[in-house]
Parts: sequence; C-alpha cells; structure tokens
Amino acid sequence: MAVPKRRTSTTVTRKRRTHFKLQLPGMTTCDNCGETKLAHHICKSCGQYKGKEIISE
Ligand SMILES: [Zn+2]
Repeated sequence: MAVPKRRTSTTVTRKRRTHFKLQLPGMTTCDNCGETKLAHHICKSCGQYKGKEIISE
C-alpha cells in the first residue's frame, strides 16, 4: 500500500475545501416571489409553480 511521503499541509487542505459547496444543490429562486425553493417543486411561500398551479393559503 502506498504511503504519503508528506502530511497534507493545512494550506493545501483548506485550498481543496474552498470547492466544497455551501448550499445544497437543486436550489433556485421563485419567479413569482423570489424566495429560495427546490427546483421543479412548488414554491412554499407563494404556492405557485410555472406561474400557475396555485395552492390556496
Ligand atoms: Zn414563490
């Protein structure tokens, strides 16, 4: 088994981890109210999907 010659430095670890996403994937903003919502899902705050399909509040 290969053994690393050098310990990964703090800087290298941190540089690699800058690419770790902060947000969950598949999040978009609502066209109607601008709230963050899941893609291809009805907006929870205004109940709209593709400008129609209204859920009564
Ligand atoms: Zn909305």
